[in-house]
Amino acid sequence: MKVAPEPKTREDAPRTVHVSPHTGPSFTLHGAGVSGGIAIGYAHLVSTARHEVAHYEIAAKDIEEEVRRFNDAVAEVRGELIGLHTALPASAPAEIAAFLKLHLMILDDAHLSQQPCMTIRTRRCNAEWALMQQMDMLLQQFDEIQDPYLRERKHDIVQVVERVLKAMMGSVRAPKAPTREEIAIVVAHDLSPADMILFKQHHFAGFVTDVGGVTSHSAIVARSLTIPAIVGLHRARDLVREGELLIVDGKEGVLIVNPDVKVLAEYQFRSRRMELERQKLKRLRSTPARTLDGELVDLQVNIELPQDVEEAREAGATGVGLFRSEFLFLNRDDLPSEDEQFEAYRKVAEAMNGLPVTVRTLDLGADKSINGADRSGPNPALGLRAIRFCLAEPQMFMTQLRAILRASHYGKIRVLIPMLAHMHEIEQTFAALAHTRATLDQLDIPYDRSIAVGGMIEIPAAALSLGVFMRKLDFLSIGTNDLTQYTLAIDRTDDTVAHLYDPLHPAVLHLIANTIRSANKANIPVAVCGEMAGDLGATRLLLGFGLRQFSMHPSQVLAVKEQVLRTSVAEVEPVARRILRTDDPQKCLALVERLNG
Ligand code: PEP
Ligand code: MG
Repeated sequence: MKVAPEPKTREDAPRTVHVSPHTGPSFTLHGAGVSGGIAIGYAHLVSTARHEVAHYEIAAKDIEEEVRRFNDAVAEVRGELIGLHTALPASAPAEIAAFLKLHLMILDDAHLSQQPCMTIRTRRCNAEWALMQQMDMLLQQFDEIQDPYLRERKHDIVQVVERVLKAMMGSVRAPKAPTREEIAIVVAHDLSPADMILFKQHHFAGFVTDVGGVTSHSAIVARSLTIPAIVGLHRARDLVREGELLIVDGKEGVLIVNPDVKVLAEYQFRSRRMELERQKLKRLRSTPARTLDGELVDLQVNIELPQDVEEAREAGATGVGLFRSEFLFLNRDDLPSEDEQFEAYRKVAEAMNGLPVTVRTLDLGADKSINGADRSGPNPALGLRAIRFCLAEPQMFMTQLRAILRASHYGKIRVLIPMLAHMHEIEQTFAALAHTRATLDQLDIPYDRSIAVGGMIEIPAAALSLGVFMRKLDFLSIGTNDLTQYTLAIDRTDDTVAHLYDPLHPAVLHLIANTIRSANKANIPVAVCGEMAGDLGATRLLLGFGLRQFSMHPSQVLAVKEQVLRTSVAEVEPVARRILRTDDPQKCLALVERLNG
């Protein structure tokens, strides 16, 4: 018997699977494609407890059993919270313990733990529904509170309710795991970046969600999984049933449910053709990315977890331009220790074998938060996020800096600070670094004394006052995702305004081009590490603006390299200049198309 060799990476895994068309009604949903390619497989529904709650009536004889089910769930969550609290390491920030205590208090408050039992008895409804009714009522009361701190505690109520719901649903309605992940397509209402990172351990064929924007962190992780994905489908979770046959066209953002035989055959054909193209690109792995007129371009990668470095090497990347270190902090109830972080950074530094590894300091806040420590505030994207959060948590920040510095002894590590807007943020970061160095010096722990420190240019204020940043920092990295979000006032996670999110908006292009031009003039290395760097439609434009360093998800490196190899900088520069001269979006688009034509 011949056994097929195990695929070495997910990239090598065969994409074509044998599926048979279904007989259910066929329909199509449209959303925003997040990650190119075509996936064909069967729907696997995933729940967010709050969105799953149904209402049903309980027979009189079953009421006490329903009350017991509710009480058991409350007891289970109480046990969980107490367990987490007891297991907290001494070094954990006091806030985490405080949050756990607060959640315990909320859970034990009669409004939450007893009132739903009354509702079950009087209204003969299911326990989940009774709890949701109670939550809605409490949230309404909280909305009327004047004190903003107390008002915001409603998020804690929601989190506690979510835990209780999950405990109840866990016993009754746990979704069946798909029999074969490689032909399962995850269908969810919403997936947080923390959920997405868990998918890295699986090999699903694709996934689709009702909400989310294309540059939300969930979508970015989806892209890094290199499987087709669509967000913003609005009602997929309601309309699709477990086990239905689906086609996910991640490029066009189209989900086809129960395709007929002809449509299925057409997509199978397209999928095979794409696979062939992907295989062909692999030949470029060790070819230097040089334009037709000889300009060398650095193509680096963005990674979320140390194991992603494998893909970076496979793609022939010239470095890690962005290591989103905050992903080490998600899906856990404690904080990673200094040693654990050190090992993670060292692993990447060593694996990249002397090539640069840019570790971005924690960018928590907005759509990424540590379990039980949601301090996102009323407007998460504008709140205590990234460097602001780190400077508010000096112990946590310095633990990370020590880990990064220690790892710098084992490779070429650089430090990148996210979300800078103020000079004092740089100064405070330098002070934290100086203190960290001193503690290492005292113990004779080696580190790279000339470690480069750079900053993300992703807030318009930074792009508009570059002088300060260039004087203080060793390199710049333009975060086009946030730069677009903050310039256009579009929440990147909100699909209701996703149609207004436009990195090609003249205002955004001016900020990008100006940053590249100024940095080049001052001889400060500058990269783009937002999603735009991996967008083939933007490669020539960025080259025309003078960019020579791109950092993107590994799956895009070879395709972008192919585009670089076909480009003459001398030809694209004048068109890029013309693009900057027009403020007419139509003309701008036509010129970008001409550039790519
Ligand atoms: C960006 O904002 O463009 C960026 C690269 O950072 P993140 O997507 O992690 O916010
Ligand atoms: Mg950013």
